[in-house]
Amino acid sequence: MSKMKWELNLENKEGDTMSGPFGIRCAEKNKISLATLLTGLVSLSVALTLTILLLASYHSNKQSLFETTFALNYSAATKMSHSIDSLFQSMRAGLAYTGARLSAGDLSDTQEIQRQLEALRLGSHYFNSIAIVDETGLVRGVDPPSVGTTGMHIVTAATKEALAVKKSYISKPYNSATGRLVVFMSEPLFDKDGIYRGYIGGSLYLQENNILNMMFGMHNLNSDGSYFYIVSSSGHLLFHPDKSRIGEDGSANLVVQKVLRGESGYDQVTNSQGITFLSGYSPVLENGWGVVVQSPINVVYDELNRNIRTILLYTLAPFVVLMITAIWLARRLARPFVSLANLAGRLGRGERIVLPEVKHHWNREADLLTQTITLALNDLQKQTAQLTHAAMTDSLTGLTNRRTFESIMTQWTEEQHPFALIVMDIDRFKSINDTYGHQAGDEVLKHLARVVTSSVGPHDICCRYGGEEFVVLLPLATVPEALTTAERVRTAFETRENPLGIPITVSSGIAHYPSHAESADMLFQRADHALYRAKESGKNRTIVAD
Ligand code: GH3
Ligand code: MG
Ligand code: MG
Repeated sequence: MSKMKWELNLENKEGDTMSGPFGIRCAEKNKISLATLLTGLVSLSVALTLTILLLASYHSNKQSLFETTFALNYSAATKMSHSIDSLFQSMRAGLAYTGARLSAGDLSDTQEIQRQLEALRLGSHYFNSIAIVDETGLVRGVDPPSVGTTGMHIVTAATKEALAVKKSYISKPYNSATGRLVVFMSEPLFDKDGIYRGYIGGSLYLQENNILNMMFGMHNLNSDGSYFYIVSSSGHLLFHPDKSRIGEDGSANLVVQKVLRGESGYDQVTNSQGITFLSGYSPVLENGWGVVVQSPINVVYDELNRNIRTILLYTLAPFVVLMITAIWLARRLARPFVSLANLAGRLGRGERIVLPEVKHHWNREADLLTQTITLALNDLQKQTAQLTHAAMTDSLTGLTNRRTFESIMTQWTEEQHPFALIVMDIDRFKSINDTYGHQAGDEVLKHLARVVTSSVGPHDICCRYGGEEFVVLLPLATVPEALTTAERVRTAFETRENPLGIPITVSSGIAHYPSHAESADMLFQRADHALYRAKESGKNRTIVAD
């Protein structure tokens, strides 16, 4: 048991450390710290900014990619429709020219017919086969001869219709007599008297090598999945990268419907197989065909995703740097407030704190607050210490007061620390007061306080109990030790020169805990009774309780 421990215990007694002098109880678990709050806010705003940036990029990228794809497909469709237009005019002109030459001569001159037809076919490569049919429907000549219909009558609906209309004709795709999928076009033949003599007709074998393949390539499927197709005026596919679909009726397709109405433009369309395309379309004015160039939409989205990934790649690093910097700054900013709050919290819990050295902060508000609050806390601590001291001590003598004495004694008896108690009373003090005045009496009281303090051990506690009564608590002291101390005080007081220069004495009573009593009250009574006996038996003496 050391003195330190009693002082600590005394602190506990005086201030209820559990609730703190200000009664502040922090439910810290449910609160968010400023640093966390700022970090959260910063992270949230950076993440939001990045999200907004990516969303905005996504939308603008998507729009521009769509627009570019539409524009490219539309322009390709327009160019192709113009090419087909010119091609078709040349084909028609070729047929008309050869037709005119033949109809001017003898249609029964098979050799001449064969020669002319071969010249037209091989010279232009416009048609896979060419035939001359007279007004009766008899095939007068055909090239290549391998077709083998010379001398036969026409049988297909298209050729019959071509004969009947007696003017420029173009068929929809149909299966020819030779079993091929063809599209057929013809020019009427008139002799010099203007009499109708039949027609000259050319066929395109749609599923074989033909002029369209030669012009636009056998494989028109782009690496990005874009391709084009040509439809006849009836909506049937004349040209398509998927050969098996040639001849198929495509008129259910919205874009096909539009192009066949003679419209040109671009649109998003989903085909019969459920694939969505960005299509550009343009009609061929000369023959009512239509050209559609289209890119699958998922290709555009793939491109879009690649772009967004690139943007993300380039923006992520700066954003991470920004986030780290912002969080670092936020934490730096929060730091002074955090330490002030921690300080205030400890103060609120009643802890005795050593105020840290005041540091200057670059943030004006943080700096002002730190300076001001540290000063205020410093003042508060000083005042608290002064008040605590004042509450514990006697103002006249500076000794521990009665309240503190009682609480120490109660604590020691509760904790069962053995100690001795001396109760002292100045003899005939009333008469000193009466003779020399109250002020002189006060001087005597202060003198006794000095004498007592200088006569006891370093761990003994001297108190002014009240009036001219003093008590000394002697931890761990035995009765003889307490008696020695009391006698030392008594002798010193008697012999040392006092402020009045007259002999003044003191009487004392001694009691020991736990030998004389088991409670603080009883112990004091026992000591007081001993004192009474000292007074009774002549004063200026020390008596130990029975
Ligand atoms: P005894 O020898 O029996 O102790 O007689 P006494 O005169 O000392 O005892 P009493 O209790 O009759 O007188 C105590 C006096 O102490 C009464 C009061 O005027 C005086 N007194 C009490 N407090 C103070 C104080 O703070 N200052 C001064 N000067 N006198 C005080
Ligand atoms: Mg008295
Ligand atoms: Mg007295």
